[in-house]
Amino acid sequence: MSTIAIIGGGFAGTLTAVNLMYQAHCPLRIVHIECSERRNRGAAFGTESSHHLLNVPAGRMSAFPDDPLHFLKWARSRNKNLSESSFLPRSLYGEYLDDVLEAGIKSLPSFVAYEALRGEAISIKLIQDNNKAVIKLADGNVVVADKVVLATGNFKAGISSQPAGISETIAGSERYFADAWSKQSPQLATTDGDIMMIGTGLTAIDKILELEAQGFKGNIHAISRHGLLPAAHLKTSLATFAQTELRCALYSDLNLLFRSVKNAIRSGSYKDLFDNASSVNMEVSDWRQIIDSLRPHSQSLWGALSETQKRRFCRHLKAYWDVHRHRMPPEIGNRIAALQQSDRLKVIAGRLYSVQETAKTLVATIVPRSGGQPIQLKVANIINCTGFELDFEKADSALAHSLLSRGLVKAHPTRLGLDILADGNVLDGNDRPSKVLYTLGAPTIGARGESIAVPELRVQAKELAGTLLSLTITEQLPALDSRSQSVAN
Ligand SMILES: Cc1cc2nc3c(=O)[nH]c(=O)nc-3n(C[C@H](O)[C@H](O)[C@H](O)COP(=O)(O)OP(=O)(O)OC[C@H]3O[C@@H](n4cnc5c(N)ncnc54)[C@H](O)[C@@H]3O)c2cc1C
Repeated sequence: MSTIAIIGGGFAGTLTAVNLMYQAHCPLRIVHIECSERRNRGAAFGTESSHHLLNVPAGRMSAFPDDPLHFLKWARSRNKNLSESSFLPRSLYGEYLDDVLEAGIKSLPSFVAYEALRGEAISIKLIQDNNKAVIKLADGNVVVADKVVLATGNFKAGISSQPAGISETIAGSERYFADAWSKQSPQLATTDGDIMMIGTGLTAIDKILELEAQGFKGNIHAISRHGLLPAAHLKTSLATFAQTELRCALYSDLNLLFRSVKNAIRSGSYKDLFDNASSVNMEVSDWRQIIDSLRPHSQSLWGALSETQKRRFCRHLKAYWDVHRHRMPPEIGNRIAALQQSDRLKVIAGRLYSVQETAKTLVATIVPRSGGQPIQLKVANIINCTGFELDFEKADSALAHSLLSRGLVKAHPTRLGLDILADGNVLDGNDRPSKVLYTLGAPTIGARGESIAVPELRVQAKELAGTLLSLTITEQLPALDSRSQSVAN
């Protein structure tokens, strides 16, 4: 019997397991390793706050690409007033994933075994001519597997890679919170003074909502290089242009692509992007339609860029793309706008130069993006909301370091995850496809571009399960064949 081990029990790992359960036709053992207490959650769905909503409407959050309204139907069985455009709590989505896994386990055929292990995988060693892996867990447990799926998702940043301007001393201060996702002291909300957030993306928005819900009455200063907050979704989503092919010239020319998107938004027309757009009478009444029309093409656009262009995109354009593409629910957009209007939330575009600690405060010096004199802010606390670490070298993960140091994986040239083949097969330090290791989700962002949200991950999980099952069957065939011959003799 083959063993497929999955490291990570967030959406990607759980859905890989579930797809293996539904697709398996031969004897199979699935070992599913997750270090945190709660399976099926990950950072996204582990929140208990009802103020944290999904940033994708319910109609697009199904776990199964072939049953696009699966989540909505599940949610409607609890509240029939919900619609495709409802933005539901992220904690509810965690419960949905519990049920999805439970249903998979209930449907297991007798020849498939599923074992859920709680523990942190800290290293992998290859044995038997690199055909099998030995996974070591922090508690000393060992799992031997024929294939291993790295579904490790979003890593936390290691202490050595705190944002610029945060010295080692400040990183160790009680007033500094290095990880926005770790449980923070409830006293933070009653703190006497302002709070500064490093980062202005969806992580900062989550933290702002959390502080507000806990009754925080002070001011919040959110700083990032560009000072851009995520845009909000519209209350009702508008139809987008569902074309199969973009204009050829847009592939591999980042400048032209950027100009064309800007023109399309300005002119309110798809014709800068799609050749046959002028023959279709389709109105653009909002810029979100243009951004959403690119979504099905984002992976192929990314794939066509040279490594230099990819790095340029990350340096200069990614911040703009992210705030338009990864939007917040409309009701949250309204609450954030109200905080800005009342001057309780101030967003600053600039670079954190340094932070000094005095007896009662932290004094942050910020160099504004627009130039001019540095700004000094006295705040009671600083929270690092810069998001997650995709560079395996900088990640706070023993497993990531072990994989790199043993040469079992190779960082993608953009440092956004790993170098892989199209099917998720990991390349080793010598550019050879691993016989054992596969990945999906965040570790594939460098190679695939957009590879973070449920609509992409559900497809990857289904396809990867299919790939692994066909490989394990093919690899079992010679053994089965020689067994049947010896029986015949
Ligand atoms: C705050 C937030 C909100 C989001 N909201 C949405 C949304 O509304 N809609 C949407 O589509 N997407 C959303 N996303 C994107 C989200 O990342 C994906 O939807 C999805 O949850 C990612 O799943 P994952 O399994 O790849 O990664 P993760 O959720 O990060 O899961 C990885 C899991 O692996 C475990 N793990 C890691 N290393 C090890 C190890 N060595 N040993 C054992 N276990 C390990 C971790 O504990 C974790 O549980 C959000 C992301 C965040 C951070």
